[in-house]
Amino acid sequence: MSAMDLDQPGAGWASGPQFDPDLLRLYYARLFPYDQWCKWMAYNSDEPGTGSQLARRELSLTLADDVYIRYQCFTNAKEMKTLMTKRQPHKIDIGAVFNCVPRDHLSVKNFRPESRELVFDIDLSDYDDVRTCCQGATVCKKCWQYMTCAVKVCESALREDFGFEHIVWIYSGRRGVHCWVCDETARELTNDARLAIIKYFSVVSGNENQAKKTQLSSPLHPSLERAYRLLEPLFVEHVIGENGQGLLASSERWETLLKTLPEEIGGQISKHWEKNGNDTSPLEKWEALKGLCVSEKPNQAKKQKRTSVPELWKYETVFSQCYPRLDENVSKHRNHLLKSPFAAHPKTGRVCVPFDAKKVSTFDPTTVVTLRQLAYELDQHSGDDVLDLDKTSLAHSVRFFEKDFLHPMMRAWGRARRDDAEYAAALKGDF
Ligand SMILES: [Zn+2]
Repeated sequence: MSAMDLDQPGAGWASGPQFDPDLLRLYYARLFPYDQWCKWMAYNSDEPGTGSQLARRELSLTLADDVYIRYQCFTNAKEMKTLMTKRQPHKIDIGAVFNCVPRDHLSVKNFRPESRELVFDIDLSDYDDVRTCCQGATVCKKCWQYMTCAVKVCESALREDFGFEHIVWIYSGRRGVHCWVCDETARELTNDARLAIIKYFSVVSGNENQAKKTQLSSPLHPSLERAYRLLEPLFVEHVIGENGQGLLASSERWETLLKTLPEEIGGQISKHWEKNGNDTSPLEKWEALKGLCVSEKPNQAKKQKRTSVPELWKYETVFSQCYPRLDENVSKHRNHLLKSPFAAHPKTGRVCVPFDAKKVSTFDPTTVVTLRQLAYELDQHSGDDVLDLDKTSLAHSVRFFEKDFLHPMMRAWGRARRDDAEYAAALKGDF
């Protein structure tokens, strides 16, 4: 059976619920990648048993009927599997690493979170004021391109401005993405430092009750110059045209944009396009608008009648459409819970799979594997003499997670350990 056949409606797995207790049981018994998950969360820690980072990590589980249990923990992959197969959680959230085993949270004085990954949650429902194809929980390949914009900008800033290396991106199972930054320096950030990083990324303000807007000031931070270089081509490809969000493809839409220009200029262009708007493409319109932008002297009086468009207008336009919109609350506290990679989304049945940030634009959230599809694939290959995982299309996600994220991080741990040993040897003089 090819992937094409699986995509056909009416294929064995496509009808029926994509998530139910039986499918979940199968998934936890035969497919969830416990080993990889625990290797990750152990962070190479030496301390055995309950002292390890893995053992001090909180998991919170949402069971059937929304029963919610916090402070779950375990010391190895086998115990994790026992917990999951016993509890059958519909949702798995990852919390912080605490100063002791989370199970003991009531009996330990001064129980507190000690570390956790720096995480970001980006949700397409926060783009409802700019996307025209879908709203709310609905997602398609077209509006997914806002995630492309977000991933590209976050990746460049996290790697180049902050120097982080061990970053994994996870599809959230429904309408967005999660980013886990796992470098030791990231895991040890204080809440204040997390807030500062979130502020660094706060370019689009406003919330669901307010119009989203972007207000910049000159000179632009180099990080924003770089973001513009990354975003403007995506804005052209996915936002302005008819095949994208259509911002410059119909008079109704471009009128809204022209209102953001200085009044007189906006009015003139509006009149001009009213007559000749169909003669130019969205790209030509955008080029024309950009061409009007001129840099302003800092103290040029605002009182003067505006006869030109400030340079910042084009940045504000691109950013208010495309700059990442992060959920601040998820990132700013060590103690915040976030859905675990490889959990399944109870509404869609889709597995929260890792994906390659470099290929985010071709990632298709509407074809991510569901629990029912996995069950079907297991069934199709029931006689094959291979690991259960390798019978399914989850295999490439798990292999990607190992190859692109886990193994490079483990190699870095190995290097750090050797450096420490050499340093200790040098101090003692026994080279
Ligand atoms: Zn859409």
